[in-house]
Amino acid sequence: MSEKPFPHPSVFLGEKRLERIKGYRVHESRTPEKPLRVLTPSQTIGPFFALGLVGSSEDDLACREPGGARAQGTPIVVSGRVTDEAGKPVRKALIEVWQANRWGKYEHPDDTTDAPLDPAFKGWGRMLTDSEGRYRFRSIKPGAYPNPGYDDWMRPPHIHYSIFAAGLMQRLITQLYFPDEALNDIDPILNGIENLDARASLVARRLRADQAGEQGVEAYGFDIVLSGAAQTALFVDG
Ligand code: FE
Repeated sequence: MSEKPFPHPSVFLGEKRLERIKGYRVHESRTPEKPLRVLTPSQTIGPFFALGLVGSSEDDLACREPGGARAQGTPIVVSGRVTDEAGKPVRKALIEVWQANRWGKYEHPDDTTDAPLDPAFKGWGRMLTDSEGRYRFRSIKPGAYPNPGYDDWMRPPHIHYSIFAAGLMQRLITQLYFPDEALNDIDPILNGIENLDARASLVARRLRADQAGEQGVEAYGFDIVLSGAAQTALFVDG
């Protein structure tokens, strides 16, 4: 039998789970036990926050400019709704997304892997929810990549999310994962969420092909619930 490359998360029990993943440090900025010291008082962003922040075609991560060359990889469309605890739509929420390219490479100086860059791939996008709380963006399915500093930890394909809206005092961040990815079952960050419903909330739903609105495109649904019992699992910024 071949040796397993890294341990299954079920062997890491309780609160110390993440700390036992080969040197992973749970430090205070990731999971603060007491309120962080606030130097500048927070104030609401007000109703005009989003005005002028989002340009055309910023909801397309798979090209540098409208009509330009398309990134390599499996084209995807991700759509969903942002709702509050009562299920009411959150309109004009600013959603920002960023991800690795099809080979699991970020265009970032800290990504020192040998995986190739894709000159056509922008890798980030931003959009506003409409009056029904809906959002949608185009991209390509990201590749898995080795987590820097851990030679035996491959992050499953994922898309990073930041959500900011009127009424929030700080942005919310989380990650979308794809269904049926074997690496999901052994990713310490995803499996660090103890509540199974909360963990499942981060795995996108595969939608019917016709829901993508384009041929040959995989469609995924990812709804975001900002609070309450069905809240999407959100991470502390940092
Ligand atoms: Fe990432």
